[in-house]
Amino acid sequence: MGASLQKTILIVEDEQDILQLIKLYLEKEGFRTATAMNGVEALKKVKEDKPALIVLDLMLPELDGLEVCKRLRSVPETALLPIIMLTAKAEESDTVIGLELGADDYVAKPFSPKALVARIKALLRRLERTPVEKTGLYHYGPVTMDTTRHEVRLGNDEVPLTAKEFGLLEHLLRYPGRVLTRDILLNAVWGYDYYGTTRTVDVHVRRLKQKLPPLDAAIVSVKSLGYKLKHTVDET
Ligand code: CA
Repeated sequence: MGASLQKTILIVEDEQDILQLIKLYLEKEGFRTATAMNGVEALKKVKEDKPALIVLDLMLPELDGLEVCKRLRSVPETALLPIIMLTAKAEESDTVIGLELGADDYVAKPFSPKALVARIKALLRRLERTPVEKTGLYHYGPVTMDTTRHEVRLGNDEVPLTAKEFGLLEHLLRYPGRVLTRDILLNAVWGYDYYGTTRTVDVHVRRLKQKLPPLDAAIVSVKSLGYKLKHTVDET
């Protein structure tokens, strides 16, 4: 309980029984809940209820879960909204697509509500960890970034980065495991008044990978959306 008390979880599920079951368990754990039974309603509820996390069923009427996910990821206000997708076992390829489109985690049906709640709590905990802000230091495998000294090191060697490469790396390191769209990165690093194309981001990511080879496999391209830095170096 405690910290979870004020958080609203939006549950999007068109099967009433499952919806009510998840709602019951989450409320028992002290969460506030909002519900939607189709994709269009889900997008509306995100705006109205400002949820801390969404439990999003894959198969939905109106707009399906993938489309909802894609739309949420492509606007700055919801680009980092945590999403746990519910999938059926038979839809495993969709699960992969779901993660590629930016879901943070998925739970396959049938699932135990208890396990789902545990996953929700784990994801919220994981995303709340921002220990870096104070020290200005990021560590990722052999890569160290010191934002106060404006320094990036690979092992002991300093790697010179341009200001944009530095900004890009800082943004990726700040949100490991999250899908960052090209627009989000462009706005964060180049600013809203920048008139370049989103391909600029691709070029700079490529250069960043060349300068820091351990990041080559760690920064993954996410279909048409953007990039994700794996949560840890070893994550598969
Ligand atoms: Ca469904």
